[in-house]
Amino acid sequence: MPGSGSSTRNGGGIRSQLGTATNVRLSVLSEPYWAEFEDRFGIDPGLTRIGYLFLAASDDELETLRTHVDLQHRFGVASELLTAADVGARWPVLADLGFSGAGFCASDGYLNQHRALRGFLTAAEAAGATIECGIEVLGFEVRADRIDAVRTTGGSVQADVVVNCAGAWAPTLAQQLGVVLPIRSRRVQLLHARTVDALPPDLPWLIGPHGQVHIRREGTGRAQVGGFLGKDETVDPWAFDHDADEEWIGAVLTEVVRCFGIEVGRSSVLESWAGLYPSTPDQHPIIDRTDAGMVVVGGFAGLGLMHAPAAGLLSAELIVGGQIDSLEPDEVSLARFSGRVQTVEQTGFQPWVFEEGRTRMGERCSYVKAGLALSVLKTTRASCRLRQRIASRRLLPSACLRSR
Ligand SMILES: Cc1cc2nc3c(=O)[nH]c(=O)nc-3n(C[C@H](O)[C@H](O)[C@H](O)COP(=O)(O)OP(=O)(O)OC[C@H]3O[C@@H](n4cnc5c(N)ncnc54)[C@H](O)[C@@H]3O)c2cc1C
Repeated sequence: MPGSGSSTRNGGGIRSQLGTATNVRLSVLSEPYWAEFEDRFGIDPGLTRIGYLFLAASDDELETLRTHVDLQHRFGVASELLTAADVGARWPVLADLGFSGAGFCASDGYLNQHRALRGFLTAAEAAGATIECGIEVLGFEVRADRIDAVRTTGGSVQADVVVNCAGAWAPTLAQQLGVVLPIRSRRVQLLHARTVDALPPDLPWLIGPHGQVHIRREGTGRAQVGGFLGKDETVDPWAFDHDADEEWIGAVLTEVVRCFGIEVGRSSVLESWAGLYPSTPDQHPIIDRTDAGMVVVGGFAGLGLMHAPAAGLLSAELIVGGQIDSLEPDEVSLARFSGRVQTVEQTGFQPWVFEEGRTRMGERCSYVKAGLALSVLKTTRASCRLRQRIASRRLLPSACLRSR
């Protein structure tokens, strides 16, 4: 089902405040699509530009934010570096909390991911796409080393182009063609709570030091709260707990008080859930074609909603024109993992660095000649009943195809 994976379980965040050139570029490429979403797709996605405020707890952290802001400026992003005094003057509720300063970008914000999904699907159908729900891709028929057809629970589908955009489950499908995708799934939790006056209307999305905890308002009278709290679980995407942990809910609300001085009572929690960040070692996506002709579009970590338009655009360039034009193809290639990972996106994430043969989280990794393969990836398909036909380029957002 469209939206049955991470795409409707996310926080709705859209931002250009990122820490690597690749991710900033992906945001800059996506921005016009979000700004003109209603004109292009006929649905108001509820884009609310409250700004993201990345708060620094130390001078060192502020220095890191300064390098990010400098990088963002190179790509035309109007972000700012704020001193502690600036932060207190703009948002008095944050004064005297001991922050060293912050990075801020007023055009960042959030949207309603359900409406965005509906916009993409409606536009795809209007452009001739057929969207079939309740059908699972089982495998591929290969002729002369190329995919000839996709085997599904609804029968075989001949396909000139096959796009593997199966999110956290993409590695399982790729593996059937002998392709190892260095994507593993990290479990992330969010909650919505009633807040009466706790959040001033002009308060941006607050991202605490090291991205450990964050809070923003969600419409009127509600808050969205999230955070890793130093825990970064890699889970089996076929069998993970979709409910948030009780322990996490208590801990994250305590951290919101400690970090931002904002009280959100336990009894005011309305809903909570967990979803997946399908992450690559550098937190950049893979948009590439494999030898057998499968186009892989995945590994978006916690940025896949905001970068969806760029993903559609780059995929369309690759499929229709034969190569990616709007970005240096190596930045999103699968082959980049055959060398050492150069830069890792860290803004808003639990720091997660792959070291030689071992991740920061202490799990063993194995390197293979073709790339960095994760021995921790499990491929059982036990509990998943999510089914959707992924067969041809017709499923790409039509506006992205049109934009060429
Ligand atoms: C809690 C949370 C907060 C997040 N916050 C943000 C945010 O604020 N901003 C942001 O940009 N991103 C955020 N993200 C990340 C974002 O949601 C993901 O990067 C994005 O949704 C990934 O999209 P996708 O299409 O690659 O994968 P998915 O949305 O997971 O889609 C994959 C689809 O493939 C289908 N599928 C899998 N296997 C098969 C098969 N064999 N046959 C048929 N269909 C199959 C699945 O059913 C699913 O529908 C967040 C994620 C989580 C979990």
